[in-house]
Parts: sequence; C-alpha cells; structure tokens
Amino acid sequence: MRNFKLILVVLITAGLQTAAFAQVSIGLPCQNDDRKCAAKLRSQSPIKKMSYWESAFKKPVEKRVGSAPDELVAYLNLDNIVGGFPNKPQAVTIPDDFLKDVSDAIAELPGQVKQLIAKKLAGIYFVKDLGGTGYTDYINKGIFGLNAGFIVLDIDVLSKSTANAWATWKERTPFIADPRYRLDATIEDNGQDNRKNAIQYILLHELGHILSLGENIHPQWGQSKNKISLDDYPFARISWKAGNQNDSRYISRFEKQFPLRKNTVYYFGAKLNGDQMISVYDQLEATNFPTLYAATSPSDDFAESFVSYVHTELLKRPLEIRIYHNGQIAKTYKSCWEEKRCATKRKFLEAFLESR
Ligand SMILES: [Zn+2]
Repeated sequence: MRNFKLILVVLITAGLQTAAFAQVSIGLPCQNDDRKCAAKLRSQSPIKKMSYWESAFKKPVEKRVGSAPDELVAYLNLDNIVGGFPNKPQAVTIPDDFLKDVSDAIAELPGQVKQLIAKKLAGIYFVKDLGGTGYTDYINKGIFGLNAGFIVLDIDVLSKSTANAWATWKERTPFIADPRYRLDATIEDNGQDNRKNAIQYILLHELGHILSLGENIHPQWGQSKNKISLDDYPFARISWKAGNQNDSRYISRFEKQFPLRKNTVYYFGAKLNGDQMISVYDQLEATNFPTLYAATSPSDDFAESFVSYVHTELLKRPLEIRIYHNGQIAKTYKSCWEEKRCATKRKFLEAFLESR
C-alpha cells in the first residue's frame, strides 16, 4: 500500500538508478503490472501475522537485525507491484562492519527507548533496491489493534551516509537550488560525525512510527483523512486540525503564522525557492513543530518530535540548521525543547517515555 510506504531517504545515485530498473526474478506468481494479483497475495502473506515473528520477539532488541527473510522479500516485491514502483527488493549479505554499526546504534539508545521498542519492534531488516530508504509496516494482532511492526531499510543507501552529510542533504530537499543561499545541518559534533550515528538518527525516526502503533497519538496511516476528528488523539491535536470535505490533507493550527508550510515538500519536487529559506525557518519558530519535516503531517510530526527529543535532550547531541546568504550566516535554527513554544509536546513526550 502506497500509504504505508514511508519514504525516509531517497539517495538515488546513478548506480542505484540502474539497479532500480534491472529485472530481478524472485519467482512471484504475479506479473509486474498485475496489481490485483499482487494485492491478493500480499494480503495472504505470513509476515502480517504475529505468529511469524514470535522467535524474533524472544531476542534482545539489538539482535533483531538482519537480512530480510524470503517471506518478507516476497511481501516487499508484491507491495511494490501494488504501489506501481519498479524496484525489486532483494535479500542482502550484510558486511560485519555495517552490522556492528547498526547493533551499536541500537545498543547506545537510552534505556527507556530500548524498553519501549522491545515490545513493538519485530526487527530491522535490510534489502537492496527497496525503492526508498525506510519502510515501516505493522503486523496484524487480532481484532484488538495494531501494536507491533517491522522496519525495512535499503543497505546501499545507508552504508554510504555520515550523519551531517545525510541531515544536510535531507534538509535541503524542500528548496529549489539557488547559488545565493546555502543550508547546512549539524546533528553530530566532529568526532561523532560517522555512519553509525547517521543510522541511529534515521532509525529513531522510523522507531517513532513503530512506537505510535496501537496508541492514540495520531490517526493511523492510510485512514481516510477527511472524516477523522482529532479529538481522540491528544498528540496530534496539539498542532493539527482535521481536514474538511474539500481538503483531504490535514491542516495545522498554524496556517496563519506559517503560510509557507503548504509548500514544504521533502524528497521529491521541491516547491520552495532558495530565497524563502530564512522566512520558512522564521515562520517555523512561530509554531510548536520541532523540525520543518514535522510540519508535513501528524505522523511525521510525532516521528520527528520523538527523534529530535531523544537525540538532543536524552542523548545530548546537537541539532542546528544554518542558512547562509552570499556566504554570510543569515539564520540559525536550533532544537526547541528548552523553549516555551515546544513545552506542551515536551510534556507529552516525557509522559510517553516515563509511563511504560
Ligand atoms: Zn516518517
């Protein structure tokens, strides 16, 4: 389902692009364009059942990492056919140094975060040619709700990233390139600016999505957006109002203070001009969104609030956006967690992390 595909990073290099269109036979009984066939088989996949993951949940959380098992690879291929993506995910052999970075990234998370994810995370699985970097999906657990899930990541994209280069690339994607303006992001100090910490930051965002499963934080992905009241979602209603019949997108409580929010699109098709960088971040400071990406939807609001809070307040790491105009620093944006504007969300996150 397209709605369940949370595209986190798309660093499509020329090499990856070639791979994306290579035909790989995985022995699926559905043709590449037969969405009906793929949707039917996808709904019968064992990976959506809790029983499939029982042994995974018995392992310590940092050991729930590996190459995607065959059933998951088949599911991802069916999902791409249904979504119209050309990519054909494949299992991978994970190099030892990469596996160590992933295990260390998880092991170094704060204790209360590890406790929370241990209950809900079936595992982190790697493939090649995912079609995007991050994918989070839920496991059906009977009729009582959705409260566990798994993360799939593209190894080729993550194995090349270091923390600040990845964050800078991501935070530039909403803006059309303009040689007069430059944006740099810092999420690690010099000695810590490595691949392990890029993986940790990317994972924390996806883990935010996993932790929202089965909670009343925001409406679940894929639910119709124009009929949902946010009254029952205490986190989402801090910043959002439900859309109306004529507007299927969620609208925020800050449309007046942040008129440029509507044009903020990450990863694909930048809509903001370079000379709007400073105004966008000035407007963002008049809201309670902790990052610019948080302002794009209620589910990414939670994932971004979670990652930026854990990263800056619990792990004591930096988070800074610097905008340069003709080589001169023109704007510095920092984490909001010590500021009044983010106090309500901070309280929510503190309670969320402590109550379990
Ligand atoms: Zn997300």
